[in-house]
Amino acid sequence: MVKNMPADAVKINANENPLGPCPEAADAIHSVIKNGGRYLYEDTYDLGETLAGVEGVKFGYKPDDSYIEIFAGSSAPLHQAVLAFCSKDRAFVKADPGYEAGERAAKFIGAKTVNVPLRQGTWDHDVKAMLAAGGPNPGLFYICNPNNPTGTLTSRADIEYLVANTPAGSIVMIDEAYIHISKSAVPCSDMVAQGKDVIVLRTFSKLYGMAGLRAGAAMARPDLLEKIRPYSAGAMPVTGMVGATASLKVKNLVADRRKIMGDVREDVFNWLSAKNVHFIPSESNCFMIDVKRPGKEFYNQMAEQKVYIGRVWPVWPQWVRVSVGTKDEMAKFKTAFTKAYNV
Ligand code: PLP
Repeated sequence: MVKNMPADAVKINANENPLGPCPEAADAIHSVIKNGGRYLYEDTYDLGETLAGVEGVKFGYKPDDSYIEIFAGSSAPLHQAVLAFCSKDRAFVKADPGYEAGERAAKFIGAKTVNVPLRQGTWDHDVKAMLAAGGPNPGLFYICNPNNPTGTLTSRADIEYLVANTPAGSIVMIDEAYIHISKSAVPCSDMVAQGKDVIVLRTFSKLYGMAGLRAGAAMARPDLLEKIRPYSAGAMPVTGMVGATASLKVKNLVADRRKIMGDVREDVFNWLSAKNVHFIPSESNCFMIDVKRPGKEFYNQMAEQKVYIGRVWPVWPQWVRVSVGTKDEMAKFKTAFTKAYNV
């Protein structure tokens, strides 16, 4: 978290979407505000039903009949699944570098986190190594696809292998926060519909541009959702609910935004390649650059130019994560990068 950024800062540090909510979402949000004195559970149900239609996964009004649970973003179900399925004797198994949030939840309950390096060169999850490292009684395997921070994909075949080979009682959580941005990642919601031991996470914070509005979902068998649910309390933010529902109903929104974000990303990749800068090609709205010096030092040199890039992962201390902003923001990134990197 960066405090007191200047008003004209370029914020490419948090994998946000500068496009923000689509106009249909913004209209729905404006209209619902006047009713915000009520809890409006109906709007959460509407989102569940609409998402069910998109994903082919059942939403039910009774907890024992629903494969979808709506949340205010995907952080809550991610944390809650760790609390529910990990313990002092049941580890949380993840990739490194990977999204760290679950590790913090594991620490909170005294569960061990087993960090397994991404595969060299392909930078995908090494599912066989994860299975081996998890020991006889792992709690939760965490797959982030596309991965944060690398934006790299793990194949559907590898995820299926992991799901088929996890020890009885352990669960695979597939975090698909960035799936809509990728052109070739294969979603795993069908595994939920088939009743596998998986939890799939959805968020409206990334492609849908609603990070500050808060909407997301966990999709899993009712008995798995039942274990996560007790850690939740209260109604969902109605603004996030109606915005998410409206977004799902916009035809071509995913394809259009994927193209806009992908074009900006590919332009930066071409530029970096032309300058012989070492980076990892990504299918997401973030990517890693090898800055060949302590990443924190490089971060500071960029911040001095009011360009705020992402954090550094301790396992790759000379790499920084950069989020894909607008075309104008990335032009400012290129200028600042040229100065800081000396290309
Ligand atoms: N999962 C991944 C991989 C993320 O990168 C993030 C946020 O950056 C989240 C989950 C949580 O996002 P939210 O709670 O906004 O859905």
